[in-house]
Amino acid sequence: MEIEVVDRTRAAYQTGRSRPLQFRLQQLRALRRLLSEHEATISAALKQDLNKSHFNAQLFELIGVETEIALALDKLSEWAAPRPVQKNLLSMLVDAYIQPEPLGVVLIIGAWNYPWALTLKPLVGAIAAGNAAVVKPSEITQHSANLLKELLPQYLDKELYPVVTGGASETQELLRQRFDHIFYTGSSAVGKLVMEAAARHLSPVTLELGGKSPCYVDKDCDLAVASRRITWGKFTNCGQTCIAPDYVLCEPAIQDRLLQEMQRTLQEFYGDDPRTSPDYGRIVSERHFDRLITLMDDCSVALGGQSDRSELYIAPTILRDVDPSCRLMQEEVFGPLLALVTVNGVDDAIRFMNDREKPLAIYVFSSSKKVIKKVLAETSSGGVTVNDVMMHYTLSSLPFGGVGQSGMGRYHGRHTYDQLSHLRACYVTSPALESFNKARYPPLSHGRLRK
Ligand code: NAD
Repeated sequence: MEIEVVDRTRAAYQTGRSRPLQFRLQQLRALRRLLSEHEATISAALKQDLNKSHFNAQLFELIGVETEIALALDKLSEWAAPRPVQKNLLSMLVDAYIQPEPLGVVLIIGAWNYPWALTLKPLVGAIAAGNAAVVKPSEITQHSANLLKELLPQYLDKELYPVVTGGASETQELLRQRFDHIFYTGSSAVGKLVMEAAARHLSPVTLELGGKSPCYVDKDCDLAVASRRITWGKFTNCGQTCIAPDYVLCEPAIQDRLLQEMQRTLQEFYGDDPRTSPDYGRIVSERHFDRLITLMDDCSVALGGQSDRSELYIAPTILRDVDPSCRLMQEEVFGPLLALVTVNGVDDAIRFMNDREKPLAIYVFSSSKKVIKKVLAETSSGGVTVNDVMMHYTLSSLPFGGVGQSGMGRYHGRHTYDQLSHLRACYVTSPALESFNKARYPPLSHGRLRK
């Protein structure tokens, strides 16, 4: 079944109909129409999958995709145009430029935590760059996956942009096929399988993976502001965000004050009982619920900790004085548990971060330019936001992606377009001035080329 889908997609791509800019623009407008005409149904699917509120569905899923579409519609002719390059003495009379061209058939494999944004943002780039694309949403958020499968063919060319649903075995069957690019979002463990499968066909990959994104809170900072911003980033979507702050590093002297501020913020955001707040989500599955509950073993719960498996509810939870050797600190949390780990100042925090894999994001809160400069200069991560969390994700002009174990490749805005294009080197000369070429033809005079 998957083999036929890929063959059909390739045959459709080979007709050349995905290439004209007018066609790409028309498909992007159709995708925009899909989102606006089905906003309520999409919201309802997200409510069933993750208990996302309508507001959060808009803010964290749909607006981002609409922004990407608007940008592509506005900039496509500029992105697709030949890009002249600097020339040297020999090429003064030559036409030298970079021509972006489509790669072919792209496979987009999405994750469940933002099931619409993580499949449709890469799709916007794939369409804009003139490719065909097979879209494989995560099976874990099944209401969203089924709705995407139902809606996409009603708006887009169904042969060029088919949706394949299913889990690991269907994805593995897809991965046995040849693609011209694989764009994967999900865990590092599966990312390795994707890269292994891609290697068999020499297919390039973009791997948008995860990891433990640390947050350093300096003693010299506005703790109330830091706590609000961290609390927002951590507990949005119940902590199931790839760039959510995974743990906080701070000096022992400010741990209690930070906790007090966070307690105040949680009360302000979600009230006395977060379970009844329309803005507080749920854990995606029983498997993840059980994993998160055992992650709290051996840790001291300072705030929250309540849970209800029948509702997949885990309260916003903060753990204090967390021992770096405990399980909570060995794997990506990906849930509403925030570990506070104490360090002795910025140098110790930098050492702590550099002793671990390069994360998808690093956050630093400080009023000291020196401290900020030091963290930026001495650490590495996919992206970084200073004095806030996650906001680098929202700016399309910034490339979004990981480094090392947190991934490879980048996207958003023009970066997606370039990622899913081949940047072809074009050197166009004429038959004139042949006498200038004499110096490179044999028989060569064996004079010195350099002084
Ligand atoms: P997931 O379980 O939905 O898996 C992602 C995709 O991989 C799905 O489409 C799934 O069908 C497929 N898959 C799962 N197991 C497979 C296997 N054995 N073989 C082939 N395909 C398989 O999502 P997940 O992996 O739980 O996602 C969570 C992870 O994704 C976290 O680590 C998170 O940090 C990361 N993430 C990263 C980004 C980013 O932009 N970098 C965004 C969201 C999530």
